[in-house]
Amino acid sequence: MAEVLIIGGGVAGLEAALTLARSGVRSIIVEKNTALGGQARHYNCKAVDGVCQACGACLALQKAEEALKDDYIRILVGAEIAGLENDHGSYTVAIRYKEQLLNQTVTGIVVAVGLSLWPTEKRGEFGYTQLPGVVTSLDLEIILQQSPEALGLAPRVAFVQCVGSRDSARGVPYCSRVCCFYVPRLANLLQSSHTGSEVDIFYLDRQHYESIYSASPPSCRYIRAMPGKVTTAPESQLQVAYVDPLTGKLVNQDYDWVVLCPAILPSREVSQLASLLQITLDNGGFIAVHEGVFTNQTGIVAAGACTGPMSIIESVASGQAAAGEMLHYLRI
Ligand SMILES: Cc1cc2nc3c(=O)[nH]c(=O)nc-3n(C[C@H](O)[C@H](O)[C@H](O)COP(=O)(O)OP(=O)(O)OC[C@H]3O[C@@H](n4cnc5c(N)ncnc54)[C@H](O)[C@@H]3O)c2cc1C
Ligand code: SF4
Ligand code: SF4
Repeated sequence: MAEVLIIGGGVAGLEAALTLARSGVRSIIVEKNTALGGQARHYNCKAVDGVCQACGACLALQKAEEALKDDYIRILVGAEIAGLENDHGSYTVAIRYKEQLLNQTVTGIVVAVGLSLWPTEKRGEFGYTQLPGVVTSLDLEIILQQSPEALGLAPRVAFVQCVGSRDSARGVPYCSRVCCFYVPRLANLLQSSHTGSEVDIFYLDRQHYESIYSASPPSCRYIRAMPGKVTTAPESQLQVAYVDPLTGKLVNQDYDWVVLCPAILPSREVSQLASLLQITLDNGGFIAVHEGVFTNQTGIVAAGACTGPMSIIESVASGQAAAGEMLHYLRI
């Protein structure tokens, strides 16, 4: 009986497994972390006053719960691929799991190893890891989830978009596609949970992947500038220096928190995995795919953000498409 290996248990990998299961195909998910759901398990629900903001975050938990209940899906968390032999489309995979090495034969592979974040500390002038109060957007999600009181009363917050993105000289040349989408929702959540907070959003460009400012709180201020420097100031926790786009003058603005939105990179292990599976990567280091999911190897498809920056909903759709092509390949 066909059994498919799925590498990565984020929303893309989970959706691929669930789609295969619906057609009666068994799969085994190998997830390196101890929990399923990928990056999205760290994100908060962005509903405000009970109104859903369509951020997609709840899909992580929902898909993980469905997969855990499904008899056609075997899940190994805290596991990784240690070796692979390809015998004309039948793969023998060595899986490192709980200090043992399991050998498993599978008929196809879905790679769904997701994303990682650009190392924000490379932009030394923003003070990440140096100045208390300078965090990434992922850090802010975790603070809001675990210790929202740490933000203080009525905090003044600056979001800085495009940190490392669209910057060939110091970062990556491409757009990360999701930050223009998640920042307004995050700002909205912050303002509704922390009464009196003030939010400024520094941005370079408007990316119209959806009506991105529809979720912005009315009191949030958009400033079209890339800050030059973040410092500490005598009477303020942080000070952001930027050139006012309207007057051309240098402004030093005080904040309690500066939230940097880093570029999206592929998963850190993607190149090691690619050489094991003998699949090719594109110029950005993402898995090179044609028609959305096909790698250069027959029987190996890829899904989700390991093929390029995308949203949760897009990653779910990509997982579904990858599983659909896998069923076709298996002639099911
Ligand atoms: C700060 C931030 C906020 C975001 N907010 C939103 C939002 O509000 N809404 C939205 O739609 N999108 C948002 N996104 C994008 C969202 O995170 C992605 O769309 C989604 O996580 C992609 O899902 P995925 O399954 O492809 O990858 P991931 O979520 O990255 O999951 C991949 C999984 O593979 C595992 N893995 C990696 N390498 C290996 C390996 N070698 N072996 C085994 N397992 C491995 C990882 O541990 C992980 O569990 C945000 C992104 C960032 C960075
Ligand atoms: S989509 Fe987002 S805002 Fe809507 S219920 Fe789910 S987590 Fe909450
Ligand atoms: S999605 Fe918006 S914030 Fe993110 S890189 Fe693209 S333009 Fe910059």
